[in-house]
Amino acid sequence: MSESHVSDSVIVGWENHPFYSGVLGAMERAGRAIQIDRNVFNRLSKPKRVLYVSVPVRMDDGTIQVFDGFRVQHNTTLGPAKGGIRYHIDVNLAETSALAMLMTLKNSLVGLPLGGAKGGVRCDPNKLSRKEKQALTRRYTTEISMLLGPEKDIPAPDIGTDAQTMAWLMDTYSQQVGHAVPGVVTGKPIEIGGSLGRVDATGRGVVYTVIEASKRLRLDLNDKTRVAIQGFGNVGYHSAKILSDVGCSIVAVSDVSGGIYNTKGVAIEELRAYIAQNKTVKGFPGGDFVSNDELLELDVDILIPAALSGQITEKNADKIKCKILAEGANGPTSPEADAILFDKGVFTVPDILANSGGVIVSYFEWVQGLQKFFWSEKDVNNKLWEIISNAFNRVYDFHSGNKMDMRHSAIAVSLERLSKAMLYRGFFP
Ligand code: NAD
Repeated sequence: MSESHVSDSVIVGWENHPFYSGVLGAMERAGRAIQIDRNVFNRLSKPKRVLYVSVPVRMDDGTIQVFDGFRVQHNTTLGPAKGGIRYHIDVNLAETSALAMLMTLKNSLVGLPLGGAKGGVRCDPNKLSRKEKQALTRRYTTEISMLLGPEKDIPAPDIGTDAQTMAWLMDTYSQQVGHAVPGVVTGKPIEIGGSLGRVDATGRGVVYTVIEASKRLRLDLNDKTRVAIQGFGNVGYHSAKILSDVGCSIVAVSDVSGGIYNTKGVAIEELRAYIAQNKTVKGFPGGDFVSNDELLELDVDILIPAALSGQITEKNADKIKCKILAEGANGPTSPEADAILFDKGVFTVPDILANSGGVIVSYFEWVQGLQKFFWSEKDVNNKLWEIISNAFNRVYDFHSGNKMDMRHSAIAVSLERLSKAMLYRGFFP
């Protein structure tokens, strides 16, 4: 079978996919807690719109390889669809749809005038040259451009994509319409309309929610506070850097190649410099090797999964020892693991709250682009703090008032706003 073959698992079966059905199940339980209108729930249980595209790319060796790409818009009641674009070998329609649903819930939770979307291309970005990655991005953008626009659908970076990818996307769209359109994408470089503070916003938001959680748990954040972080990309690195600035000790970090453990603290900037040279964490001399599985089970105060979904399941949940689990990644914990962690007394800051800093500052970037008026980094960070701590407090109040875990409380708070908005707007035709 050629690599361009679109297998059933890539394009169908999203209703039965464990990640999709996990998010849907959580939404159903949270919806019951707020007595959500059944028709509203039925509409939210499926994506509004799904686009499959094949993405042909001329590779450096002259052959043409055809990649599978998607853009899913889950809901657009509150505003234009918004969500990242992922380049990863496991991208499929079910996962992209579940991530789009999470984006709808996240944007509603933090009060943004945005709907939820997600996109991706099934590829290994580490195996693509810069030229191939640019060609893939430009062709993918062209194929999904019927959905895109500053008032329609606004992508952002996710796993395997970065500011350069967003610049190519912005340029491709702008070439099509004949003028520069910075508002079509967020997470761009500053020089073409990006926002100060966007690059570290997701990690910063994770840390702001950890600060709020530690106040509630009466846990001092100091050099005795041990932190482990899975994933050392955009979210993992910035969470590590900002938490160590706060004074915590980052005792373990990992990437796809495995992790480094040092009870005295891993030197974050030295590790970053090492990765710039050697591409991976593997072989870094400043600590002992730990596998990604072992990292999750370390005896730490704060655990931050900041890589892929499905990392904490019923197989390892019982061995998790942290006090605070702050979900930098989307969907790192399965529903079965959630229940086990709740019984163990682990305080979870769920993904739609913990990693919402990225989309909050993306929203700031979009607003600045539309107004052509740019803010200082201090203004961006202050406004981020205001929005995310306010959201944390609303979720925490629901959690303590209803004796419901933080994940379902976050979804319930989000659904309260979204369901009212859907009922006000009504149903067409
Ligand atoms: P990234 O591509 O910058 O980094 C991903 C990191 O995960 C890399 O260090 C990679 O080596 C590691 N990784 C990949 N596969 C792994 C595996 N099997 N085991 C352990 N580590 C692995 O991506 P990112 O932007 O930092 O995104 C990380 C997570 O955060 C994703 O779940 C993403 O959806 C979520 N997120 C990102 C943003 C954002 O603004 N970038 C916003 C919200 C949520």
